[in-house]
Amino acid sequence: MTNPSLDQSTKDLLDTFDRPLRNLRVSVTDRCNLRCQYCMPEEEYAWLPRDTLLTFEEMKTLVGIFTDLGVEKVRLTGGEPLLRRDLATLIRMLNQNTRIQDIALTTNGILLAEQAQELYEAGLHRVTVSLDTLRADRFKALTRRESFDRVMEGIQAVSDVGFHGLKLDTVAIRGFNDDELVDVIEYGKRVNAEVRFIEYMDVGGANDWSMDKVLSHAAILLELSEHYGPIEPVNEKSSAPAQRFLLPDGTTFGIIPSTTVPFCATCDRSRLTADGMWYLCLYAQHGLDLKKPLRTASLDEVKQQILSGWRARTDRGAEERKALETSNIRGRFIEIEKLRQDPHLEMHARGG
Ligand code: SAM
Ligand code: SF4
Ligand code: SF4
Repeated sequence: MTNPSLDQSTKDLLDTFDRPLRNLRVSVTDRCNLRCQYCMPEEEYAWLPRDTLLTFEEMKTLVGIFTDLGVEKVRLTGGEPLLRRDLATLIRMLNQNTRIQDIALTTNGILLAEQAQELYEAGLHRVTVSLDTLRADRFKALTRRESFDRVMEGIQAVSDVGFHGLKLDTVAIRGFNDDELVDVIEYGKRVNAEVRFIEYMDVGGANDWSMDKVLSHAAILLELSEHYGPIEPVNEKSSAPAQRFLLPDGTTFGIIPSTTVPFCATCDRSRLTADGMWYLCLYAQHGLDLKKPLRTASLDEVKQQILSGWRARTDRGAEERKALETSNIRGRFIEIEKLRQDPHLEMHARGG
């Protein structure tokens, strides 16, 4: 459903490939309490200086400008968003914006058990927990932390406090968790969650990435159909990145085939970092600083910058990476020295 009160120029806001601006991911912090190998392979990072971060008031104002321009869905992410102190306050503030139809959160789940009630009362609509394995030893090897039990408690807390629409996001990695696909689906059934398998991507700091570690969309379907029998696609018109499928028992699940079947052609999302940089693609190497005009110019100036930024958008990052694969010249996306110089290039700075 599109917002009827937007004026015509905004409704017509399209990028160079006629993609509308509908989704905004807001990274509220770049810090994290895990060190997932595929996202933060290092132990120490150059963090965004704390005094450069947007205040909640500034985030609310920027999100308000985005929703004036057509954004309907906002996802809070990070880093680990629950490390941002008093996140529930931001959710309450965003909830005053009647143009937002959906406020969701992507979290690693560690701090969920203690915050779920407060987040629910603040008006958070939906929660997605990232869960790559059901084995505590693998969790530790992947994340280099011992927090597996806390994640399990966090997932339980989500349904206990009354949230609906819980999702579990699992990055499927060949040689790591490819033998757990069925277990994860079965676990999802038990906790009332829809599982989405994400193909491993070579974004940001994922320097250990290689194509042979990518468990493809096709391989995931094959493995699951060998266990469950025929799998049907769910026919729905959606700009969501996940393709959804139906198992013979009626269970649904999704696959986000970012690497082997990129969905750039319909991508309507952009990303705001915790310090106010706006990125038009997960793979974009340059962003637009919105904090500066927000603090030194007028809201109209910020709006004009977003309008012209989106109208000029040409990004199709995952498709371009895939094209390099086809020509056999897909190397490391960003060299480690460059990542060290600019924390914004990291996945944990711009959110997944
Ligand atoms: N810390 C939170 C979490 O893990 O849910 C939110 C931020 S995290 C960057 C968002 C999502 O990006 C997670 O689901 C994570 O699995 C995914 N992600 C990070 N690096 C990835 C990669 N190289 N390939 C695919 N997904 C990745
Ligand atoms: Fe893992 Fe999310 Fe932290 Fe990245 S930001 S290391 S995916 S928990
Ligand atoms: Fe969108 Fe960029 Fe991801 Fe393609 S690679 S789907 S353009 S964010």
